[in-house]
Amino acid sequence: MMDWATFARWGARIADWGAEYHRTLRSRPVRAPLIPGATATALPASPPENGEAMEAIFADFQTLVLPGMTHWQHPRFFAYFPANATPPSMLAEFLSSTIGAQCMLWQTSPAATEMETVMMRWLAEAVGLKGFHGVIQDSASSATLAAVLVMRERALGFRGNTSGLSSQPRLRVYASGEVHTSIDRAIWISGIGAENLVRIPTQGPLRSMDPLALDAAIRADLAAGFLPAGVIACIGGTGTGACDDLTAVLDVAKAHGLYSHVDAAWAGAAMICPEFRALWQGIEAADSLVFNPHKWLGVQFDCAAHYLRDPAPLVQTLAIRPEYLKTHGTDGIINYSEWSIPLGRRFRALKLWFVLRTYGLEELRRRLRNHVKWSQALAAKLDTDRRFEIVTPPVLSLFTFRLRAAEDAAQQAFVNRINDDGRIYLTQTKVEGATVLRFQVGQFDTTEEDVETAWTVLSELAGGAA
Ligand SMILES: *Cc1c(COP(=O)(O)O)cnc(C)c1O
Repeated sequence: MMDWATFARWGARIADWGAEYHRTLRSRPVRAPLIPGATATALPASPPENGEAMEAIFADFQTLVLPGMTHWQHPRFFAYFPANATPPSMLAEFLSSTIGAQCMLWQTSPAATEMETVMMRWLAEAVGLKGFHGVIQDSASSATLAAVLVMRERALGFRGNTSGLSSQPRLRVYASGEVHTSIDRAIWISGIGAENLVRIPTQGPLRSMDPLALDAAIRADLAAGFLPAGVIACIGGTGTGACDDLTAVLDVAKAHGLYSHVDAAWAGAAMICPEFRALWQGIEAADSLVFNPHKWLGVQFDCAAHYLRDPAPLVQTLAIRPEYLKTHGTDGIINYSEWSIPLGRRFRALKLWFVLRTYGLEELRRRLRNHVKWSQALAAKLDTDRRFEIVTPPVLSLFTFRLRAAEDAAQQAFVNRINDDGRIYLTQTKVEGATVLRFQVGQFDTTEEDVETAWTVLSELAGGAA
């Protein structure tokens, strides 16, 4: 057990440790050494019968756990997408954990609910969205699953939840091949089935869904007796940053009366900078969209901003009101658990409030603009070196490249060499079936020198003459 005086001491000690951890992160390898079983075998097989002192637990955290962690807050983390945890966000999470509230209904945490409404308005204004209602989900995957369930229920006249799918016409949902795997999983879980996720070919430098092909696919499905339900577009696809032409794609969806959802999980944050908004031009025609402040806005996981033109079909799809959850006599209030799949909800708006107030939009914009600029500078440098070639040019701060005239195995070996070296971390992806290296800048403590270090590492480890 732990008394509150001990809790207070450890709270201060862990804050000190955390500051030092972040200050010295550059001296650690970014990616954990990959030794399967190392942590599991170091941990006792059974739980202790008697309590242990925090001193011992914390010592083990440092010796057993830390060496097996990949450091997502490392300033030279260039893999996947960022997952920034900024100091004000961490402090807000500490407070939110301390209060430990469940924010499922307005009455179970009125301030949390009302702050969520206001923060979703702040964020909408920050990214230039007008006329949407927001809710914070745990992840983009959950928001997209909710959107697919709405597509299903709307197309079936809200009979899916009651009658099941076995006696219904076959539903169809349309997306390009550039969308995230969370779309595939939403299609599985919703009972629509992977065979009914229709892949629309892409075109152009941003690999946008071909709107004519989309229209043709919907018409062919209607003629074949299928029931088209919705279109999922992406802005900033995970592999190479693909962006659908929303104006054209959402026009087709509207013409056929289909529900549209836009996955902008990573790129949506960049829309705080007006000059990047051209990438999602036409967004106001979407029925719903999601982006993750927990990626590129400094608000740590989990915090996914899910925006809806009209929340009614979502609430009709997800709300269950058993007697014990009813709040009597309070009209005009929002119970956000009716907008999401899990019942329990954390107080996630608090960290958004702390981050937006601490940085201000101008400082957040400055960071994102730098990330984009430094990433583009590195791409330009690689482009002039004949050992490398750019495969997909930067979309915001994400681009892909490869060793010139080398097989997939050599590209993968290059990725492994880079990550084993430890100074930087990046990942591979496939472009038209071929292995390429993927690079993005987005960690909040990254400096221009860190991106220059990436150049040094790539240049050293590529070998050969420039
Ligand atoms: C990261 C990402 C997701 C998944 O986000 P979660 O919040 O982890 O579910 C979905 N789509 C895109 C485009 C992403 O980049």
